[in-house]
Amino acid sequence: SLPLFVAAQTHAQRNPAKVAVVDTTKEESFTFGQLLADAATLKKRILGKLGLSDSGDLDERRIAFLTPNGYDYVVTQWAVWAAGGVCVPLCTSHPVKELLYTVGDSDPSLILVHPTFEKVVPALREGCATAIPFMNLEPFTRTDEAPLPTFSPSFPLTRRALMIYTSGTTSNPKGCVTTHENITFQANSLIKAWNYNSSDHLIHVLPLHHVHGIINGLTASFLSGTTVEMHPKFDPKAIWERWQDRGSSTMFMAVPTIYSRLNDYFDAHIRRSEQEMAARAGAKALRLIVSGSAALPTPIKAKFAEITGQVLLERYGMTEIGMAISCGLEVEKRIDGSVGWPLPGVQVRLTEKETGRVIEESDEDGMIEIKGGNVFREYWRRPEATVSEFTADGWFKTGDVARRDAAGAYYIQGRASVDLIKSGGYKISALEVERKMLALDSIQEVAVVGLADEEWGQRVAAVIKVREGAAPLELQALRAELKNEMAPYKIPTVLKIVDGIERNAMGKVNKKTIVQKYWPDKA
Ligand code: ATP
Ligand code: MG
Repeated sequence: SLPLFVAAQTHAQRNPAKVAVVDTTKEESFTFGQLLADAATLKKRILGKLGLSDSGDLDERRIAFLTPNGYDYVVTQWAVWAAGGVCVPLCTSHPVKELLYTVGDSDPSLILVHPTFEKVVPALREGCATAIPFMNLEPFTRTDEAPLPTFSPSFPLTRRALMIYTSGTTSNPKGCVTTHENITFQANSLIKAWNYNSSDHLIHVLPLHHVHGIINGLTASFLSGTTVEMHPKFDPKAIWERWQDRGSSTMFMAVPTIYSRLNDYFDAHIRRSEQEMAARAGAKALRLIVSGSAALPTPIKAKFAEITGQVLLERYGMTEIGMAISCGLEVEKRIDGSVGWPLPGVQVRLTEKETGRVIEESDEDGMIEIKGGNVFREYWRRPEATVSEFTADGWFKTGDVARRDAAGAYYIQGRASVDLIKSGGYKISALEVERKMLALDSIQEVAVVGLADEEWGQRVAAVIKVREGAAPLELQALRAELKNEMAPYKIPTVLKIVDGIERNAMGKVNKKTIVQKYWPDKA
């Protein structure tokens, strides 16, 4: 049987009133018992819509859904799993064109649409190359007593469960297929490392078409009996208000841009106000606050610590593998600039890019390769990529570069394809340059990119958003200032000042797009 359902049944039976989901949009909470019952109801509707009987099996058919963050999302996901289908969660902030890409590529048997997104249905129908049936999702409301059904799916755990798309930072988003076994492994590895338990209460603000929100946020929580409080989206005011209610939540997970906005909101609205002490103390009382999905700039981490007394725990992962490397629960194991040590059960190695030689030495850059039960099954309908992204001996090639220190802690240097700049014979990590530049007070945001150059191979260029109130920034003065921070060959020789740096729903910067936008002839 399925560990996730079994776990939910156990939580529901042990404590029928145990809350699985607090839905802040509905302003209602839902127990594990009701979640199981509602998933059973929706499962029958899905099977019926596809002409199957109540005891039928979707047999790995793909079911796409467009549902806001909240209880209805969780019910939908569980209903599809209970029916033996593969969940394809669509990104709620995507414009129709991008939704059509995901729908076209995943080729689902059915698309479930929540009433909130009814408006996009005509455009989706029209844009789909093949006729795909749509089904309206009826929102669920709280019931006081729900009968507790038992799920006993007869299929093996090696079955496909989930297909989520990569962020598309380096090329078109790829569908990553993971099995029930994979996602259970991914969740259990986090539960072991971060000690999720049934007295935890997680505030969840992340998008739910991405591994961070789905696995770290929902799956690990439900497997361990953690209550998940789901917010429709991130709103700094709402989070600070919730934290002020000291002790009412224990965990929070987000991407670096969210921490930067929480810091800014504190400065603008809470510092030196009547709420200041309560806000600081409330945030300090949380058990665990995690950052990931993009490199955490040290100034953001330092400022958050100044405000809350919390040292953010940084971890590294990707769609294909879930989480792989993480700093520790102990504060000494949250080293600035490091993502920490391999998670339980996950094997990590570094290899030399040109030769594939395994790097045993410390402080040497290498390609990160991963092995373990967490690693995905395949790229959807991209068999060549599934082959080319693995080594002959079965390691998954992440495409990211890192180094390891003598204590075994990893430091991410960036993606080999866009963040490793080769200039005048040197290899430069864009992430490292960004980290150092962010230490300057005048710089609010920065993206460092490589521009094609005849003389140097590549030149280091910086796109900068200047902090409000800071003096205008000029290249020569900036270069002079950076002389004390880094080796001369790393200092940017090209500068572009912008009003803002575009990021996707996960706070990621697409560097290819940046180069194309500002220096189309240097791409
Ligand atoms: P695509 O594969 O389509 O190009 P993507 O790699 O951005 O997009 P994701 O799977 O969402 O898609 O992101 C995983 C990547 O995010 C990792 O490969 C790594 O480059 C980056 N990343 C994740 N966590 C961290 C971190 N803590 N520090 C630095 N980079 C990180
Ligand atoms: Mg990737």
